[in-house]
Amino acid sequence: MIRGTTQLVAIIGSPIAQVKSPENFNAWFDAAGADLAMVPMDVRAGELDACLALLRGWQNLRGCVVTVPYKQAFATRVDALSRRAAALGAVNVVRREADGRLVADMVDGLGFLGAAQAHGFAPAGARAVVVGAGGVGSAIAYALCEAGVGSLALLDVDAGRQARLAAVLRNGFPEVDLQLECASLAGVDLLVNATPVGMGDTGALPLDPALLQTLGATAHVADVVTSPVVTPLLELARTRGCTVQTGPEMAKAQLGHLGVAMGVMPESHA
Ligand code: NAD
Repeated sequence: MIRGTTQLVAIIGSPIAQVKSPENFNAWFDAAGADLAMVPMDVRAGELDACLALLRGWQNLRGCVVTVPYKQAFATRVDALSRRAAALGAVNVVRREADGRLVADMVDGLGFLGAAQAHGFAPAGARAVVVGAGGVGSAIAYALCEAGVGSLALLDVDAGRQARLAAVLRNGFPEVDLQLECASLAGVDLLVNATPVGMGDTGALPLDPALLQTLGATAHVADVVTSPVVTPLLELARTRGCTVQTGPEMAKAQLGHLGVAMGVMPESHA
């Protein structure tokens, strides 16, 4: 029940009907007995500046989740950015301070990492391969470097995107052995598909099948694609004896990080 006393959080994007966060947050608020609610906001691109002004003045708003296509646009409009959000030029969560200032972070990568660690993946010194240097791939690659991976192979068919992210990572994490190609997956501890390849029923794989035949059984293989839950890559990884992590697992693991960042969940949920 939304009452006059209820504090709000929002999820902002366009379109918005497909997002699952309102169900997930409102179920959590309900179970916790918290007088909080999440509302979806489908905002027209031309109204973003007005939207930000409204958020600053909206006194019973605690914060918002930012989704496609506004993750980059918010980064240039909020009042303060975390170091990683500034480096990536993208945000996915905003906390509204009591004085109306909007402080933003990018926690997509933390959710991913939490889900991987729950499977036993230990990032310190690990050898990781991330396919996809777009929005989600950037956040995952950054979080892996923050968590201390030893080496990272960053692959993308778009060489410009790959080079831009590589520059950010080399600047922030000179200690990580960063490669822009991968000849073999032997000895790799983590393989991540952070591209849309495998979505729907195309059966497509994000890497050459011959390269995937070099994948060892000790690798943890993760996909960001949420539908199907078990993608062709994950099916293949299972046949090779790897542990696998689905896109919905990553999405679920985001909840606590987003809630803590907005100040509506206890720190222990991050
Ligand atoms: P994006 O368009 O920003 O990035 C995708 C990148 O993949 C691009 O740089 C593109 O060049 C690259 N790419 C495409 N095909 C490739 C291939 N065969 N080999 C190498 N690189 C390739 O998209 P995004 O916002 O990063 O989203 C990627 C996927 O992640 C989408 O399917 C989205 O639905 C999913 N997603 C999942 C979660 C989750 O919690 N599980 C959250 C957000 C997004």
